[in-house]
Amino acid sequence: MPTLDFHPTGRHFLQIPGPSPVPDRILRAMSLPTIDHRGPEFGVLGLQVLKGIAQIFQTKHPVIIYPASGTGAWEAALANVLSPGDQVLMYETGHFASLWNKMAQRLGLKPEFLGLPGIEGWRKGVQAHLIEERLKADTQHAIKAVCVVHNETSTGVTSNILAVRKAIDAARHPALLMVDSISGLASAEYKHDDWGVDVTISGSQKGLMLPPGISFNAVSPKAIETSKSAKLPKAFWAWDEIIEMNKSGYWPYTPNTNLLYGLAEACDMLLAPEHGGLPAVFERHQRWGEGVRAAVRAWGLEIQCADPAVYSPVLTGVMMPEGIDADAVRRVIYERFDCSLGTGLGKVKGRMFRIGHLGDCNDLTLMGALAGCEMGMKLSGVKLAGSGVQAAMDFFASHPAVVNLKKAA
Ligand SMILES: *Cc1c(COP(=O)(O)O)cnc(C)c1O
Repeated sequence: MPTLDFHPTGRHFLQIPGPSPVPDRILRAMSLPTIDHRGPEFGVLGLQVLKGIAQIFQTKHPVIIYPASGTGAWEAALANVLSPGDQVLMYETGHFASLWNKMAQRLGLKPEFLGLPGIEGWRKGVQAHLIEERLKADTQHAIKAVCVVHNETSTGVTSNILAVRKAIDAARHPALLMVDSISGLASAEYKHDDWGVDVTISGSQKGLMLPPGISFNAVSPKAIETSKSAKLPKAFWAWDEIIEMNKSGYWPYTPNTNLLYGLAEACDMLLAPEHGGLPAVFERHQRWGEGVRAAVRAWGLEIQCADPAVYSPVLTGVMMPEGIDADAVRRVIYERFDCSLGTGLGKVKGRMFRIGHLGDCNDLTLMGALAGCEMGMKLSGVKLAGSGVQAAMDFFASHPAVVNLKKAA
């Protein structure tokens, strides 16, 4: 364990927007002995996690769990409902939307990449009217799916998924709505059923506070129906066999047993009524986001997200002034203060860094991370207008969380 040896005192600050820090309670649950995945105990665990994860997606329909990273669940979603050469409308919010678009091309689909020009699209959420206009022009209904990223992890911008649903409905278009909420689920509000989403893709290592290694497809009845005639090759990813075996809590192949122990624990933690359930989860991420943005403003720096209506509650992208290499700043913060921040990806490489406020997090760990940022930026020659640490302290002190977990306990 070289990094633990290298930093023998205190915990590393894993302040990237996924993998997020894993609570000790979850790590302990995962350390239980691995059991027979065909035995009677496993079926109980399987049913428990399937029920819990459906509550987190806010769906009454099946959620498929894959032993794969989020990228695998992206492929699963496309492969189950589409056929070779199908047109799909994908919206460019940032780097992850771009990667999903590239995957669609590799799978033999014909993705059309819609968005605002240049960097503007990477600073705002989805523009649902553009989707509506495009779908209205598609009178032959050649477009089979609309794909949108809910929380764009490369920028810290969320997208209004309900607005996209309404745009598709307003165009009276039958395309499926497919949403990547890999980093949004269990931190930012998300309603698979109420928002009329056909396939939601998510992963374990962000809001669910688990290590990387499992990922999800939440599916609508319409998506399941479509999958029966879709022609892209699918075997490992095929929903039908998994949904069938899941009815008794099992999988057609060996599932990720110990990560499922962790998932059961994560569901208990996130859904616990005595801790306020999902509304409290969403509220605390919103609040952390506000505290971090107060710091960025006090530093006199720009937030990557240019539309306050869609600030991400999960992470904040901090733009560096001209002439400053954001990755060099990150390196100083890592080497001097043992804190990892997210790098700029794709079009914003070197221009910004990302502060994650998700996973095993609280006001004081966040204050520590902000202190690391402030010290590291000063050491790197970034001219700061004032103290972000002071601004965040003032914010957290004057805005107590709605659900006080100590009082609740
Ligand atoms: C993390 C992430 C992915 C990729 O997931 P992997 O687990 O790295 O394969 C895709 N989309 C978004 C929005 C993400 O945050």
